[in-house]
Amino acid sequence: MSKRYCNYLSNRVSPGFSLHSLSNHNKTHTSPILSPQYENNTDSLKNTFPDKYTISSLVHWASKLLQEHGIDSPSLDAEVILLHHLGCKRIDLYIHSDQPVEETVAMHYKESIQRRSQRVPLQYITNHAEFMSLDFYVDERVLIPRPETELLVEAVIKRAQILTRENEIVIVDIGVGSGNIAVTLAKKIDNARIFAVDISPDALAVAKINAQRHDVFSKITFLCGDIFRPLEGYGIESKVSFIVSNPPYISSDEFHDLQKEVRDFEPYGALVSGQDGLQMFKRIIANTHTWLKPGGFVIFEAGEKQARKIARLFEETRCFKKAAFIKDYQHISRIVIAQMEECRG
Ligand code: GLN
Repeated sequence: MSKRYCNYLSNRVSPGFSLHSLSNHNKTHTSPILSPQYENNTDSLKNTFPDKYTISSLVHWASKLLQEHGIDSPSLDAEVILLHHLGCKRIDLYIHSDQPVEETVAMHYKESIQRRSQRVPLQYITNHAEFMSLDFYVDERVLIPRPETELLVEAVIKRAQILTRENEIVIVDIGVGSGNIAVTLAKKIDNARIFAVDISPDALAVAKINAQRHDVFSKITFLCGDIFRPLEGYGIESKVSFIVSNPPYISSDEFHDLQKEVRDFEPYGALVSGQDGLQMFKRIIANTHTWLKPGGFVIFEAGEKQARKIARLFEETRCFKKAAFIKDYQHISRIVIAQMEECRG
């Protein structure tokens, strides 16, 4: 394969090509790259790594291996990972399926496919995750951004648009992870000043990469520590318009039933929160009134069956209006929105 078509050094996937959506269980995908010779002759073909490295021979080997390991969308993952190593556009895989691939690329590909067969999430292999049409760097240090979280970001943007008279909209993101929420809000809200908190220095390092990548580093203050504690000293008590968080919300019992990709590879601390999964919500809600301005919002992402319980926690503080919910694409209440009013003693 000639360098005219692919930049082997680049690890970017072409714009508009969504790794996230492609990774989502597309079981029926069959690869147009594979020639009939490969499609029909699988019985006689041993699944050993090919000695001639062409796009179709590599994708064929990889698809079969991933299928044997029970990966949901083997052909698709095989293609996405090859694209990552070749740095080309998807169409090139089809047009140039018989083109030879350099040995070093083939070896890296082999290694990546073996990782995927061990259930390492696709996004950790490619180091890409799409969120709100932005490309985020991700690795094992952070949770992979999920499409549901886009609903949270949209809810903040919608409410921020109404606050036109504010010079500066102060937003606190608890549990910044990859920075998907903080970075997107910094990009979409002109006058946002964001405090991004995480207890994990590793996660903050990734979030900073993404803030730099999207040119919003100067709008975000990155703080390491437990919930609101690192905010002390910044003089933002009663000045925060939005406290946002997609905190860990899986219960310790549910953890064992998670998909292997999640359970074995995503950071435990970003997923699990106590016996009932509600610990972080309780700890955040307990202190929101110190930081929020009157009329300010707390906007959470929550797990299935948690929204009403969280609404009740807000009620108990007697400082919030009745909470509102936003449903996800499966009609599950996922986003909880509570607006602060005067505390009723
Ligand atoms: N804010 C990040 C996300 O929404 C990380 C969340 C977390 O680590 N629990 O993906």
